[in-house]
Amino acid sequence: MSLLAIDGGPMVRPDKFAKFNTYDQRELDAASRVIKSGQLSSFLGAAGEGFEGGNEVRAFEEELADFFLVKHAITFNSWTSGLIAAVGALGLPMGSEVLVTPWTMTATATAILHWNLIPVFVDVDFETFNMDPSKIESKLTSRTRAIMVADIFGQSADMNRIIEIAKKNKLRLISDSAQAPGAKYFDNYAGTISDIGGYSLNYHKHIHTGEGGVAVTNCDELAYRMKLIRNHGEAVIDDSDIGMNVLGHNFRMGEIESAIGRVQLAKLNSIIDEKYHQGLELKSRLRNLPRLRVPKIQDGNTHVFYVFGMSLTGELSSTERQFLIDALNAEGIPVTAGYQNIHRLPLYRKKDIFGANEFPWSMNASDYTFAFTDLKNAEYLHDNSYFGIGFCMFRFDSSDIKQVGDAFEKVWEVFENKFLV
Ligand SMILES: *Cc1c(COP(=O)(O)O)cnc(C)c1O
Repeated sequence: MSLLAIDGGPMVRPDKFAKFNTYDQRELDAASRVIKSGQLSSFLGAAGEGFEGGNEVRAFEEELADFFLVKHAITFNSWTSGLIAAVGALGLPMGSEVLVTPWTMTATATAILHWNLIPVFVDVDFETFNMDPSKIESKLTSRTRAIMVADIFGQSADMNRIIEIAKKNKLRLISDSAQAPGAKYFDNYAGTISDIGGYSLNYHKHIHTGEGGVAVTNCDELAYRMKLIRNHGEAVIDDSDIGMNVLGHNFRMGEIESAIGRVQLAKLNSIIDEKYHQGLELKSRLRNLPRLRVPKIQDGNTHVFYVFGMSLTGELSSTERQFLIDALNAEGIPVTAGYQNIHRLPLYRKKDIFGANEFPWSMNASDYTFAFTDLKNAEYLHDNSYFGIGFCMFRFDSSDIKQVGDAFEKVWEVFENKFLV
């Protein structure tokens, strides 16, 4: 057995992995083209040409729609803004419930609260970390109006089953595909078969513009409503318009970001291809380590590995996962324990965002405490068994992936001795 770095032995990987950075001269040229033009945005919060934004924004949106094979792509200054616009575009009555996963980034659920709607959390699948369709129906009430799915870590949720439930119960469907741009779900891209889907373009993601986001939809009316919310729509509509009053924002993307986004979009296929193959390589390398559950890729899916998410199986002692994290980190492998359980944030426990009266939850008679046992899988994964590698934080080459595998094998030998005999 080799001496672990945590016990004073040599590290498997002494140097840090290269930071993920796909920028080159092409992004620089795109940004300077805009700066030289002197026109860094052409949006106007009024009807007319300026309502749709400048040349780069419109060209980027056309290219996004072509790439994702959708009728409309609408850019935003972040995907958080895009999510808020998407939920707002549905025009749901105040106090409606929207089902959402707790295993996601916080904006997935706060976008719901922004419209005085109530997020109701649905537990996740143990192996994919996505919303578990079999847990949805018990959460439906007469107030449920929509489902917000997240395609977490880089693969689509189980959409055929979720769409079936949505149809049966007349629910709208939004996909937060921030972490899965370009992931395939059978013949479609993740995010494109819901009423609205979309992707983040912030600097953590596969492709980015610093900050930014894009919503995709095949529905003309939802596209128009999102554009209204993006750009001070209350100043644009008149009494004859779309049957929905509008509370607008300024969620607009600038020309520099759009110009950079166009270059980044052209790189998306090669970036996700690299992540997918590296993920598969690591998965097959780690597959036979006892008690380790490697990422499961569901039928019909490709996986773009925003995160390489794993968990430990079997009865766990409180120290097992921590031992692995500490030992792997000491070998130079950046694994982290736990992800998100957003229902546990103070916001959802205290419900005091608009003062002490628990609005908007207080609109309904329901008890919106999210019991510990109710979201069993999410809670157990987060507290006890889940750990992962942020694949989009690094630019790996194949020798890096091999070293990750080497480190796992080295640590596992000791782990087995310590915990499994
Ligand atoms: C990154 C992310 C967001 C938010 O996107 P921003 O562009 O940072 O606002 C939302 N949901 C998920 C799942 C994300 O990973």
